Amino acid sequence: MYQQKIFFWGLKIKIRDKHKCRICVALNWKNKLDLQAHHIFPIDLFPELQFIVDNGITLCSLHHKSLHKKQFERIKEVITEGIAQENQLFVL
Ligand SMILES: [Zn+2]
Ligand SMILES: [Zn+2]
Repeated sequence: MYQQKIFFWGLKIKIRDKHKCRICVALNWKNKLDLQAHHIFPIDLFPELQFIVDNGITLCSLHHKSLHKKQFERIKEVITEGIAQENQLFVL
């Protein structure tokens, strides 16, 4: 049940984001890494947002990993300011 819900949640997000990593799009990168759906507000802090499509963005495995290294506050800021303006921050 959970597996199925989380699968469809991820699928909806990937479709909405046209199967592209949102950070790669902002950086104008092309890569063929795996795409993953990421919770903007972490579900350990906000379990009620777990299956909310607006709480998800599509990321490639590289940017997903790099985003998880950042502090929560930073992520929140990035999302609210808009990913496109944040190019520098995600260069590894
Ligand atoms: Zn990416
Ligand atoms: Zn994530």
